Amino acid sequence: MIYTNFHTHSKYCDGSGDPEEYVLRALELGFTALGFSSHAPLPFENDWTLEKRDLTGYLEDIDKLKNIYKDKIEIYKGLEIDYIRDLMSPADRKYSSLNLDFSIGSVHVQKDERTGEFPGIDYTEHDMDQLLENTFSNDITLLIKSYYKDMREMISQGGFTFLGHLDVVKKTNNGSKYFSENARWYREEVKNTLAAVKEKGVIMEVNTGNSRWENKTSIFPSPWILRQARQMDIPVILSSDAHRPDRIDAHFPEALQVLKDAGYRETVYLKGKKIISQKIS
Ligand SMILES: [Zn+2]
Ligand SMILES: [Zn+2]
Repeated sequence: MIYTNFHTHSKYCDGSGDPEEYVLRALELGFTALGFSSHAPLPFENDWTLEKRDLTGYLEDIDKLKNIYKDKIEIYKGLEIDYIRDLMSPADRKYSSLNLDFSIGSVHVQKDERTGEFPGIDYTEHDMDQLLENTFSNDITLLIKSYYKDMREMISQGGFTFLGHLDVVKKTNNGSKYFSENARWYREEVKNTLAAVKEKGVIMEVNTGNSRWENKTSIFPSPWILRQARQMDIPVILSSDAHRPDRIDAHFPEALQVLKDAGYRETVYLKGKKIISQKIS
């Protein structure tokens, strides 16, 4: 089967390495396509996205690579765009003028009502604890519900090609430290979100980029969610959310096995502007 990856970062945001190093690695691995998806700039200072002033340089750099390697591999120019309630959305007009090949819609932050800052929900336990205390009355159900509400708002607004890591809010939940994925309220949130995905005909990403990878349950979304998504016929694209050139195919074989176990027989990828299905083998 054809290997592609449409979710990669680089030195332009919170990854390391020049985009060209990712291309060379992709060629080594026999990829037919590689997409770059730096984090789109945010309207406030942070240390993990592109800076506004670097956006043009990033896009030009990818265009250059596209041209240099056009006979060897398809390069796709994209952004991973955050949805932040009342602040930004992949559906914002400005992104359509960037001439992107694709974009990923993701939710990474929640507002800290005490400090006015926007800490990541996929970063450290310390940040989660602060958020819980400052915004959510130490009630994890409120934080998670707010996260999935944002997801559903983003899905309903659209404006992106792939949905990024649907349940990345579980990232710090090692050993069910914060909640059980079996809890009825949690299953309900996921169910409602999958219903939104289905209704909008969204392509969902299967993301192997968990830096705290322990076993197959470290995949985003969790295997039980993929089983439900399969029953609903939701198409999936495999990606590794690489932040280093050597991670562009990280955990792909395990992820394909998880997909097969969930009943999936096909994944999709992007070719030009078209979505192509291929059999998992
Ligand atoms: Zn992300
Ligand atoms: Zn990412």
